[in-house]
Amino acid sequence: MNLSESEISILNNAKINKIIISLDYATPDKHDDQRGRKGVFYDILEFLESDNSRLINTNYCISSVVSKRNYKELTGLIELAYFLRIKHVNFQPICLESIFIDYNKFNGKKDSYYIDDMFHKELEDEIEKALKRTRELKISSNLPLLKIWIEKYFKYMDSKYFFFNKVMNGFICSRPYNYLHINYNGDLLACTHIGPIDNINNNDIKKIWRKNAIKYKRILIAGKYYNRCRNCFCDFPSNYRLSLLYKPYKNFPHLIKHCYYYYQRYFNKM
Ligand code: SF4
Repeated sequence: MNLSESEISILNNAKINKIIISLDYATPDKHDDQRGRKGVFYDILEFLESDNSRLINTNYCISSVVSKRNYKELTGLIELAYFLRIKHVNFQPICLESIFIDYNKFNGKKDSYYIDDMFHKELEDEIEKALKRTRELKISSNLPLLKIWIEKYFKYMDSKYFFFNKVMNGFICSRPYNYLHINYNGDLLACTHIGPIDNINNNDIKKIWRKNAIKYKRILIAGKYYNRCRNCFCDFPSNYRLSLLYKPYKNFPHLIKHCYYYYQRYFNKM
């Protein structure tokens, strides 16, 4: 990807704190096969090693979606980050409902993505192996926190339960306080898991947000979660943080683990 000087200047003026590169495999063929387009993996590498990427004043981070197909790639992705001089790798479990619009017709293929009970021990071992590598290479990752909840996430993913209630007490959604999402077609969303609340095309975004978001906020603040919140995943880490701060006494062991994680991360001890 070649960016012109003016495009780079626009990005720099915007003071972008972080650019997240989405990579699910450290192996080029597997990555491109998963994404459905040959050459994507090397396009990304070429950009990250180019002058273009260095001229943008930002931090790069890798984000990777974990499923049964790629959980053995965790260590490879940490090593790839090191090779690319990227300092942080974020992992999150797959949420089929958010990726496949026609989720109900997808039933037959779920097994190839879900990490069921049988594989939890292997997943745990892979996470430990990757964590060891992060320490050796001084790469930070969210693996210390992810390992607390990822097994429960997969265990309850397709059940009637909200997995976050199985992980912690007093869960609170942070979305009503800090977020709005605009889709490529102008649809305005309160969270990517719940449907559009309006469209910004030909509308004043502030007005329609104020007018329409309130009912979603009220529902979420009251803790009456939508059915699709059962698999809250992208935002689970920020929701988890907010819940710990709001109700520390209910989740004290989690709070200690969390503080320790950030201490290690920000003082470069992981
Ligand atoms: S999916 Fe999670 S972040 Fe989104 S509204 Fe539901 S609880 Fe909140």
